[in-house]
Amino acid sequence: MALARGYAATDASKPLAPFTFERREPNADDVAISIQYCGVCHSDIHTVRNEWKNAVYPIVPGHEIVGVVTAVGSDVTKFKVGDKVGVGCFVDSCVGCASRDLDNEQYMPGLVQTYNSVEADGKTATQGGYSDHIVVKEGYVLSIPDNLPLDATAPLLCAGITLYSPLRHWNAGPGKKVAILGMGGLGHMGVKIAHAMGAEVTVLSHSLSKKEDGLKLGADHYYATSDAETFTKLAGSFDLIICTVGVAIDWNAYLGLLKVDGSMVIVGAPEDAIPVHAFSLIPGRRSLSGSMIGSIKETQEMLDFCGKHDIVSEIETIGIQEINEAYERVLKSDVRYRFVIDMASLAA
Ligand code: NAP
Ligand code: ZN
Repeated sequence: MALARGYAATDASKPLAPFTFERREPNADDVAISIQYCGVCHSDIHTVRNEWKNAVYPIVPGHEIVGVVTAVGSDVTKFKVGDKVGVGCFVDSCVGCASRDLDNEQYMPGLVQTYNSVEADGKTATQGGYSDHIVVKEGYVLSIPDNLPLDATAPLLCAGITLYSPLRHWNAGPGKKVAILGMGGLGHMGVKIAHAMGAEVTVLSHSLSKKEDGLKLGADHYYATSDAETFTKLAGSFDLIICTVGVAIDWNAYLGLLKVDGSMVIVGAPEDAIPVHAFSLIPGRRSLSGSMIGSIKETQEMLDFCGKHDIVSEIETIGIQEINEAYERVLKSDVRYRFVIDMASLAA
C-alpha cells in the first residue's frame, strides 16, 4: 500500500478538505499514474452533495484525470513509465460478467466508477482524481495524443466523451442540425466536437451572455431560451438535441424543436423525474433518450479524434485549495468553461 494525498468530502454539507488514504501497489496488470491535472465535473458536485442519493463517504471526487505513468506491472504492454495518460469515469467493468462488451461497457452492471464505487475485490472504495496518484488496470487507461496539452485535455475524459458518444451514435455530421442545450463544461465540448464532425450546430443557452464564445468555438447559431420567441422560431428544426442541463427544464417545449424522427438525448442528470406529455413525442415520431459517458474504446477514439482536430477544453486552472469556491462558481454557471485542478498545488 502507498499513501495518497488528496481532498475529500466527508459529508453532504461539509466542504471538501485535505484527506490521506491508501492506494494499492500496482498489480501485474496495473498502471501507476502521477496525477498532474483533474477536471471538475458537475457530477462531482451532485455526488459529494448526495443529490443522487448514492454517496458513500469519504469521497475523493474527480474523473477527468490526466498524468504521467510512474510504474507498470509485469503484464502491462500498452504503457511505459513517462507516458502521458488519462483516466475517465470508470476503472473496471463487467465485473462478474462472462465477457467485457467493449462497445457498451459503461452500461454493464459490473461497472466500477472511478470514485464512490467499490473495486472488483468487493471491499475497497474507489477514490478519484483530486489526489496525487492513482493505480488503474491497464485496460482502463487512455493514451493522450502528443499534440494535446495535458491541462486542457483533462475535461475530455468525461465532458468530451459524454458529448462525443451520443453525437456519434445519432450520426451528427454534414446535413444534420444539432442543438446543444446548455453551454457549460459538457456543452462547450459538444459545440466543438459537433462542429468538427461537420454538423450545423446551434447553442440553446439561457441567455446570450456566452454567444460570442459559442460562435468562436464552432456554433453556427446561438439562441436564448429565456426568450419565448426562440421556441416558435425554431419549432421542428433539429435532428438532434443534446441536453446538458442538470436541472429541471420545460421538456415538452424542447421536444417541440425536433424534426420528424428527431431525438432529444439527456446527458445532464437532474435530481427529479422528467414530466413528458405523450403528445410531445407522438406527432413527429420523436424520441427522448439518455446517454452515459462512453466505453473505453470510444473514449480512446474520441481522444484520437480530438488530437486530429486539435480540440481541447476551455479551462480555468485552480489550486486544490480553491475547490470549494470553484463548486459555488460552477453552480452559478460562472466558469468558462471547465475548472481544472493543478495537482502540483497539493504540495503547497
Ligand atoms: P455545468 O458546467 O454546470 O453546465 C451546465 C449548464 O447548464 C450551464 O452552463 C448552463 O448553461 C445550464 N444551466 C444551469 N442551470 C440552469 C438552469 N437553471 N436553467 C437552464 N439552464 C441551466 O455542468 P456540466 O459539468 O456540463 O454537467 C452538466 C450535467 O451533466 C450535470 O447534471 C452532470 O452531472 C451531467 N453529466 C452527465 C454525464 C453522463 O454521462 N450522462 C457525464 C457528465 C456529466 P447556459 O448558461 O448556457 O444556460
Ligand atoms: Zn463527469
